[in-house]
Amino acid sequence: MTAASAAVAVGAGDGSTAAITAAVPGQAYPFTPNGALLDAFAARRGGPIGTGGKVAVAFRCDHHLNRFQSKLLPLHRQYGIPVTVAAMSQMFDLEHGPNGSANLSFPILQKLALENGLEVANHSSTHTDAPTAQRLREEIVYSRTALAKALPKLPIELFIPPGVGGTRYQGFAGGRSTASFQKYLAGRLIIQEHALSTGYVPGYWPMTGNPLDSMGNVHIGIENADYARRGPSFVHAAAQQGRGVCFMYHPSLMDDADLLAVEDLFAWCARERDQRRMEILTTSGLMMSSFNSFSRHNLLSRTASFKAGWNGWNGAAAKWALRSESGTTYARRGAGSAPLYKDVSTGLYAGSARQLLISMRSTTGIRAKIEILDPMAPGQFNVEKIVTLVPSTGFKPVHQYVVLPLVGSPTVRVRMSPLTGGELHLQEPRLLAA
Ligand SMILES: [Zn+2]
Repeated sequence: MTAASAAVAVGAGDGSTAAITAAVPGQAYPFTPNGALLDAFAARRGGPIGTGGKVAVAFRCDHHLNRFQSKLLPLHRQYGIPVTVAAMSQMFDLEHGPNGSANLSFPILQKLALENGLEVANHSSTHTDAPTAQRLREEIVYSRTALAKALPKLPIELFIPPGVGGTRYQGFAGGRSTASFQKYLAGRLIIQEHALSTGYVPGYWPMTGNPLDSMGNVHIGIENADYARRGPSFVHAAAQQGRGVCFMYHPSLMDDADLLAVEDLFAWCARERDQRRMEILTTSGLMMSSFNSFSRHNLLSRTASFKAGWNGWNGAAAKWALRSESGTTYARRGAGSAPLYKDVSTGLYAGSARQLLISMRSTTGIRAKIEILDPMAPGQFNVEKIVTLVPSTGFKPVHQYVVLPLVGSPTVRVRMSPLTGGELHLQEPRLLAA
C-alpha cells in the first residue's frame, strides 16, 4: 500500500481530519487528534500563548526524581523556571537508589507541581518495550489513567515517549515523524488518550499557535555540560527562525560539572527573560506558543495596568495609593496599609500552568511576601515567595510559576504583603498562561 492510499483509507469520510491534513502539507498520514482533549487543552491556556516576537524555551526532566528534588528543583526555584516532568505511573515502585524516585510519592510530586509550575506528563507505565497491542495499552493508556488518578489536581494531557529497546513499541520508535502518530498503533493510542505528544521529529519548535504543529517535536539534551554550555547558541538559532527550544535532562546522568553548566544556562535564561528577549514556558505552553502574537491569557485581568483604577484589587480598603509616573501606573503601599489582594475564579483555566509576573520596586529597600492561594481552603493550595528588593529607582520583574489546581480550588487569591517598613511600589500583577 502506498502512503497516499493509506491516507485515503484512514481519513475517508472524516471532514475534520481532512481539514487538518490539508493544514499540514506533505504529511503522508492524516492525524485524527482527540478533538475534545485538544479543545480542553487549548481552552485551559486561554488560546495561543503569544510571545510578541520573542523566542520561547521550555525545560523537561526525565524522572529520577530523587536527584531532581535534591539537585535540580532548587535551581528551578532559584531562577523561577518551570519544568515538565516525564513520569511513569510505576516510577515509585521501579526506580530505587540515589538515582531513583522513591524519596518522593505521588502526593509529594503533586504538591511540588502545584507550587512550582511543574507540568507532569505521561512517560509510560514501566519504561520498557511493548511488543503487543495489549502491552501498548498498558504502557500508554493504563499509565495515563493511573497517573490521572494518582495526581487528581493535575491534568495529564501530554505523552512523552520513553526510550525503549526491542520492537520499540512495534516500530513506533518514539515518533520520528508526525505520520508515526497515525501509522503505528502506539502513535494512535497516544493521540486517542492525550491532547499532544513529544517525540523525535527533528528541528526547533514551530511557535505557530497551533499545538498540532508541535506534535512529536524533539528536545535538546543538556545533561552533558558541553551541551548545556551551547544552550544560548541553540536559543539564538531558534530565535532567528521565529521558533522555540525544548531542553531536556536526566537528573541521573548529571555530575557536579553538568549541574554547574545547567545552572549557568538557567541564569542566562532568567536574565534574557528579564531583558524581555525570551519567554520561559512549560513544554505544553511551548506547544501553544505563537511567535507573532502579542495576546496571552492573564487570569487576573484583561487590562492589567491599574490605569482604570483598582480593577478588582482591594487597594482602597487596604489603604494603598495609585500613582502614575512616565505613563506607568502603580500601587504604593502606605503607612497603615493591609496586604493587597485580588480573588479570581479558576473556571475553565483550572489545571493550567501559570506565571505570576509582578513588576516591583522599592526606593528604600524592603522585604515582601507574594502568595498565590486558595482563600477558602489555604491548606489545599498555598504558594509563597519572599522577595528582597534592594533600593532602586527601576522596577524589577518578579516571577513565580504555579499550576492552578484542576479540582478543589475554584477561587485563587494573589496577595502581596510587605514584611518590613519602607517603600513598595508594584504594577498590576499578571497571572499568565505558561
Ligand atoms: Zn525516560
